[in-house]
Amino acid sequence: MKTLLLTESDIDKAAEIIKNGGLVAIPTETVYGLAADALNGEAVAKIFKAKGRPMDNPLIVHISDVAQAERLVSDFPQKARTLAENFWPGPLTMVLPKSELIPDEVSAGLSTVAIRFPSHPIARALISASSPLAAPSANLSGSPSPTTANHVYDDMNGRIDAIINGGECDVGVESTVITLAEETPTLLRPGGITLEQLREKIGEVKTHPAVLKPLEDGMNAASPGMKYKHYSPKAEVILLKGTQKEFLSYVRSHDGERTAVLCYDEEKSFFAENGITLGGMTDYASHAHRLFTSLREADRRGFKRIYAHCPSAEGIELAVYNRILRAAAFRIIEL
Ligand code: AMP
Ligand code: MG
Repeated sequence: MKTLLLTESDIDKAAEIIKNGGLVAIPTETVYGLAADALNGEAVAKIFKAKGRPMDNPLIVHISDVAQAERLVSDFPQKARTLAENFWPGPLTMVLPKSELIPDEVSAGLSTVAIRFPSHPIARALISASSPLAAPSANLSGSPSPTTANHVYDDMNGRIDAIINGGECDVGVESTVITLAEETPTLLRPGGITLEQLREKIGEVKTHPAVLKPLEDGMNAASPGMKYKHYSPKAEVILLKGTQKEFLSYVRSHDGERTAVLCYDEEKSFFAENGITLGGMTDYASHAHRLFTSLREADRRGFKRIYAHCPSAEGIELAVYNRILRAAAFRIIEL
């Protein structure tokens, strides 16, 4: 299959592909998504094939107005309305009981559906010109999510109908996922909308234990995506937990030719070419913005091992921590 490379002026062409049951990779404010018509089960099935995604891992449905969401769910409780008013459009996904419009392929047989209203103008324009879009991240299953059209091309060329180039994604990590289909709202995946922001608007929000721990045998995979290996570059990732001084001295004494270091701007001068910076030490949004692109860069440059700081669990750092822990297969060295 030839993959067309489109721009924001090709929305009509992309909408045609979607209406005909095809796959289009689209920019969003979080990461690039691989989109199909969410109401067409056959089209949605192609997403799983193109990504090599397990069929029991459900997809997020992207909408371009709240009225659309109301038709796709069977209950839209007050707390969901409050979150929608405050954080939509934006990087927040809500899991709610689904309506009969949602094909089984989207919800992977669950009775709930995940819904998000993205803020990116290209994503919104395409949804408005076609239909609600089922869209997971546009990477091969397991590898780091794509934050540029080039990343998508590297993984998906020849496997999908088109890619719309919309430049770099702003947030850089996938959306926050919260379920409102249970008695107490529960955070299933941290992202650009923080746990603190959610609690400020709706009160108690639990954190699913798998956010910062491997899913244990017998633990309920509230979100099937929790079960799978995720975000891994080819290089081995190792997290180092300690002070900056301990970090720098450990890395110096374990510096190998093919070892990269995910560091901060303030530390860059300690390393030669192998320092890949996530931005200023306290510029947390930048850490999220650059995480996946830095992991991909390390692979592209042939590094075999990546040392990284162990992030804190606060604000958007929780999202960075959740992703990099999985990239590191939960390996942390306490310094
Ligand atoms: P991705 O689209 O690759 O960013 O992954 C979507 C995430 O949302 C996965 O971790 C899914 O498990 C989760 N998700 C999607 N639908 C549901 C649902 N109905 N219930 C719980 N989690 C869901
Ligand atoms: Mg994904």
